[in-house]
Amino acid sequence: MARYTGPVCRLCRRERTKLFLKGERCFTLKCPVAENSDRQKRAFPPGMHGRDRQRQGSEYLGQLREKQKARRIYGLLEQQFRNLYEEASRRPGMTGTNLLQFLELRLDNVAYRAGWGASRAQARQFVRHGHVTVNGKRVTIPSYRVRPGEVVALKPITRENAFVKRNQDMLDRTVPGWLETGENGFAVTIRVVPQREQIDESIKEQLIVELYSK
Ligand code: SF4
Repeated sequence: MARYTGPVCRLCRRERTKLFLKGERCFTLKCPVAENSDRQKRAFPPGMHGRDRQRQGSEYLGQLREKQKARRIYGLLEQQFRNLYEEASRRPGMTGTNLLQFLELRLDNVAYRAGWGASRAQARQFVRHGHVTVNGKRVTIPSYRVRPGEVVALKPITRENAFVKRNQDMLDRTVPGWLETGENGFAVTIRVVPQREQIDESIKEQLIVELYSK
């Protein structure tokens, strides 16, 4: 499935907030949107007129930016995101919460939440390259939706990978409560479907629902 392959810091600059798309660099002063950044002079939206553009506040703009932010955090293209929304809207319950749950339950996101990838893009690459198993079977589809009870693990040979070791040592990421770690952090069991309060992304999902239901 296609994915965005362009420069990612400009996506954060567009949203004027950190989306944590680059792993370790996002926690350093090299991040152009960090406070006190070395590159603070680039903390304006990208493009020729980014520096001059004054943001006109409108209801539509707020909704659009929120949707773009969510889409970029999880690394989905527009059609993939739209399809997920359509499915979420057909499910019982709140559409916005359903949508966030679907995003969280993606296999690449679980590999990221488990602390194996420094970013969702790196976690996705681990999945694509066959380093991740679900219930002992290799799954190479980043959008695979995990279910409660399933065990997601890194292949034994990948556990020796220098990137994985470095991520586990350096990033010190807390595994969310809906996952249960095992095998020295190289496997996670999906305990439950995450509730909204267990999803720590600052996304206003109601704005996304308002945008798509126009
Ligand atoms: Fe975004 Fe990370 Fe780049 Fe900062 S370093 S702008 S958080 S991708």
